[in-house]
Amino acid sequence: MTTGASVFGPAQPTPLEARIAELIREAGPIDIATFMTLALGHPTLGYYQSDVRLGADGDFVTSPELSQIFGELIGLGLAAAWQAADGPPVHLVELGPGNGTLMADLWRATGRLPGWPEALDVHLVETSGRLRRRQQDRLAAIERVQWHESLATLPDDRPLLVIANELFDALPIRQLILEADGWHEVRVDLDADGRLCLGRADELSALSDGLGREASLEGLAEGSVIELSPARDAMMAELAQRLRDQGGIALIIDYGELEPTPGSTLQAVSRHRKVDPLTRPGEVDLSSRVAVGALARTATALGLTAYGPVPQGSFLSRLGAELRLEQLVRGASPATAERLQLGHRRLTAADAMGELFKVLAVCRWPLTPPGFLPEEVLR
Ligand code: SAH
Repeated sequence: MTTGASVFGPAQPTPLEARIAELIREAGPIDIATFMTLALGHPTLGYYQSDVRLGADGDFVTSPELSQIFGELIGLGLAAAWQAADGPPVHLVELGPGNGTLMADLWRATGRLPGWPEALDVHLVETSGRLRRRQQDRLAAIERVQWHESLATLPDDRPLLVIANELFDALPIRQLILEADGWHEVRVDLDADGRLCLGRADELSALSDGLGREASLEGLAEGSVIELSPARDAMMAELAQRLRDQGGIALIIDYGELEPTPGSTLQAVSRHRKVDPLTRPGEVDLSSRVAVGALARTATALGLTAYGPVPQGSFLSRLGAELRLEQLVRGASPATAERLQLGHRRLTAADAMGELFKVLAVCRWPLTPPGFLPEEVLR
């Protein structure tokens, strides 16, 4: 038993829980975004500074870790967009590259396309020093790679080809709860034993200004929770401005619904199991569902063209996932063939990641992004 209370009494607080408790005792309860920022990003005790276990034998598994097909097809898709735009010099950017697997697969699959490797510089935006070192090892074969803490230092002289898989779900959210007099912020507080618990602010939240006008919020019962993410909106706006000014295309892939739905979706995962998000901060991964349609609107409001969001399964099939699977399985050992088929199934099947994960394309170039249909344009 590793979580919460056991027959031996409550688990000891993690070092980061002790720090957060100290902060709350000194300065009062904190909002969920502050809690997430500390739990994931604390410079020494945050989850992303720990030995992040990303992959089949770790805490959680992402699409690039499930199958090489994922990074390969995204690479071919981005390269096709680049070719359709007459192959200009570009910067290839990945946001939140994790183990570096997607970029490694992308690079291997596209490396022989005429003119492509020479046309690119690779830029990885990564906040975790630990994962950055992992990416450095993994991508040692790529000549021109630079790392960045944020989008702010990306060069501004060329169009951008951008990929972000499961980045937005890790960005901090805030939660509001509806009471008789309106929306109050959900906060992390201390219970009578000094352990972290959820509470709410006494005062109304300024974040809720204008919320009542949203049709999807009408008729919500008292006690309903909604999630907002100024951090996601800001990242999307910065990306959209870059694309507007520099040209290019971004593919954003994440799990969630098109529109925000009421209810808390904050989740913590450890060893593929969901655990209480407040227990063991620093030792478990935290994420929440992304309202992908809202990201699209942020981009279109800035004058960009957005496509989708389409379910990941359809997107990958349109890019040739089944053909690629067939190619790989031919000549593979039975064990490898089975692993490849299972990986493909998990990426594309409706009861796995095929429907829950959505792909959004944001584009400045006058073309339909590979994997999308012309009628899937949003304006
Ligand atoms: N894209 C990878 C990893 C997903 S985990 C995959 O699909 O396997 C989330 C990644 O985003 C990690 O690499 C994490 O360190 C990084 N990250 C989290 N917040 C970030 C931020 N604000 N800017 C850039 N990277 C961030």
